[in-house]
Amino acid sequence: MSFFPGLELKQYLPPKRGDAIILGKEGLSIPEEPIIPYIEGDGVGKDITPAMKHVVDAAVYKAYGGKKRLIWWEIYAGENALELFGSSLPEDSLTALKFFHIGIKGPLSTPVGEGFRSLNVAFRQVLDLYACVRPVRWLEGVPAPLKRPQDVDMVIFRENTEDLYAGIEWESGTSPCMKVRDFLRNEMGVRNIRDDAAIGIKPISPSATKRIVRMAIRYALEHNRTSVTLVHKANIMKFTEGGFRKWGYEVALQEFADVCITEEQLTTDFLGVQPKGKIVVKDRIADSMLQQILLRPAEYSVLAMANLNGDYLSDALAASVGGLGLAPGVNMNDEIAFFEATHGTAPKHAGLDKANPGSLILSAVLLLEHIGWKEAAAISVSAMERTIREGTVTYDLARQRDGAKEINCSAFAQLIVNNM
Ligand code: NAD
Repeated sequence: MSFFPGLELKQYLPPKRGDAIILGKEGLSIPEEPIIPYIEGDGVGKDITPAMKHVVDAAVYKAYGGKKRLIWWEIYAGENALELFGSSLPEDSLTALKFFHIGIKGPLSTPVGEGFRSLNVAFRQVLDLYACVRPVRWLEGVPAPLKRPQDVDMVIFRENTEDLYAGIEWESGTSPCMKVRDFLRNEMGVRNIRDDAAIGIKPISPSATKRIVRMAIRYALEHNRTSVTLVHKANIMKFTEGGFRKWGYEVALQEFADVCITEEQLTTDFLGVQPKGKIVVKDRIADSMLQQILLRPAEYSVLAMANLNGDYLSDALAASVGGLGLAPGVNMNDEIAFFEATHGTAPKHAGLDKANPGSLILSAVLLLEHIGWKEAAAISVSAMERTIREGTVTYDLARQRDGAKEINCSAFAQLIVNNM
């Protein structure tokens, strides 16, 4: 019998120690030894996951002297899951994430011939992890193309379940595609579809838009952020992207009327001086936003957008402060937060103890912040910053920086621990 009533596992053994994070009406209740399900990941996952655990365990010990600790519990997906359990995505992994409300994963390669477009997408869809959250800021010492990378401190909330990303499309010249084309022409009066066009559908709903914008505003409130910017292409796609903009403002001005003001209100009612405790909600067209993040990054804080815009903007913003190798992320909903390294499996470097564990470590820092262990989070970040500043870094950072000394993945993690 397991110690976790309600945890129904088919193939995995339950964790041997630790307690479950409980989600109640007041939010998360965090025990002193919370169970953290983790997926090692394919490719460089085998290198960076142990490095991440080493750093985080040391930071937690440093912060709480053994009074609190994370209880890592391995769950499986990807290559090792297929080998051990006959499926790249065992049901038990999904059960575990739902039950424990939290998890962290290394990168996963896309399985061939198992019916998944991508394992990462499968996790998001099956668990309805509707928000992809990416905080982006510069770490001192990281070579960055921006003139003032220190001005970047933004958190992107990208809607995860809709948009052209939903994968509703038909191949050019196929009979289903021609059927859709003929329906649009004959029944809907659409004139501008070429005979040989492939066709895709872009669903954007008020319900999905409102929940992502709601999450972004709540985050801004909890983290004392000054603005939330809705990013869209409403000028061209009036009903889908325009809908996103409209429903986003509705959430802000109806559900958060006591704390949100518009840019216009800021000028007319408050003469341009932002009142304490208020969040300015504004909107920008996506192409202009791609310029703004380079030219005026200090003016932006929390951003909310639909799926495809979020895809482009997350990577562009991460690149502006030194690249994807260090960008952390989490896919989440109101019950589950699933943290992840944002890069892929880098197969060329797999198993060589060479890859940069930074993205996964910073994702674990988000996890620590999520459970309220802010001291351990701060210790990890400042030790990592110090290590990078000193110029002893993994190959990907070393090759961009004069005078840097290249070290391997585990040595980099050890240096971070030494720097705590
Ligand atoms: P990738 O991120 O694996 O590699 C892109 C480049 O970045 C490569 O040059 C790689 O060597 C380098 N790189 C990536 N991570 C690094 C690290 N930690 N340290 C140093 N260098 C690093 O992207 P890709 O080559 O397009 O994809 C490879 C595989 O990863 C594919 O199977 C893809 O489906 C999968 N993938 C998974 C995720 C995920 O799990 N979230 C994301 C993207 C790609």
